Amino acid sequence: MRLNLWWPSRAEHRFEKWIAQRHQERVLAGDTAPQGPCPREDFLQKLARKSRDILLSDPRVDHAATCPACMRRLLTMRREHQARRQKLVFASAVATCVVIAAVITVARHEMEKRSLATNSAVVAETVNLWDAGAFRGEQPGQLQSVSLPAARVRLTIILPRFSSPGRYLVAVTHAPDENGLITEAASTTANRGQQETLSVDLDLRRARAGQYYLSTTHEQDQASYYYPLQIR
Ligand SMILES: [Zn+2]
Repeated sequence: MRLNLWWPSRAEHRFEKWIAQRHQERVLAGDTAPQGPCPREDFLQKLARKSRDILLSDPRVDHAATCPACMRRLLTMRREHQARRQKLVFASAVATCVVIAAVITVARHEMEKRSLATNSAVVAETVNLWDAGAFRGEQPGQLQSVSLPAARVRLTIILPRFSSPGRYLVAVTHAPDENGLITEAASTTANRGQQETLSVDLDLRRARAGQYYLSTTHEQDQASYYYPLQIR
């Protein structure tokens, strides 16, 4: 590779390291003659951290490079320094992960809170069945107008004329029978002039838009009436 002409190759680095190790061994074995007194601890600390404050022409550098005591201190300091740096890198990586996890958790929580707030709003709706049903040849076509949102609905039903008062079961189903039940609720009629009304809470949040049936079943006679329902 052309780069090898300009930059020391891995083999050269290995060679330099080998020379440095041989030198260290000689120093630690006391084969060198250090000049001058041992420098202070803070100077050795700086040297161990390869601080830029230190000039290589400083005689204390020469001393440290040839004194077995200083060399031993330097090697220990370098090991400690590297361990500290690794710990720091690890700690900051952990801290970053914790921050990311926290941000994700908070964002998800906020989104859930917001979607719950929009989903849990109760919508008041009235379904007028006064003229509905198979009474006196009334046209079933007008029943197509029964439409409810896919939400939590507080539903008021005006029952067809001649309906009996009492307790009713109100259900939303896929088919005009009990199959594919979406939700149901029971309620007792209230009298509003001539009309009998029912008030029930229906949770239609799980229903997809489409055709369904709304049914009323009188608890006493168990007769069910089904009305086509559009969920929007
Ligand atoms: Zn020394």
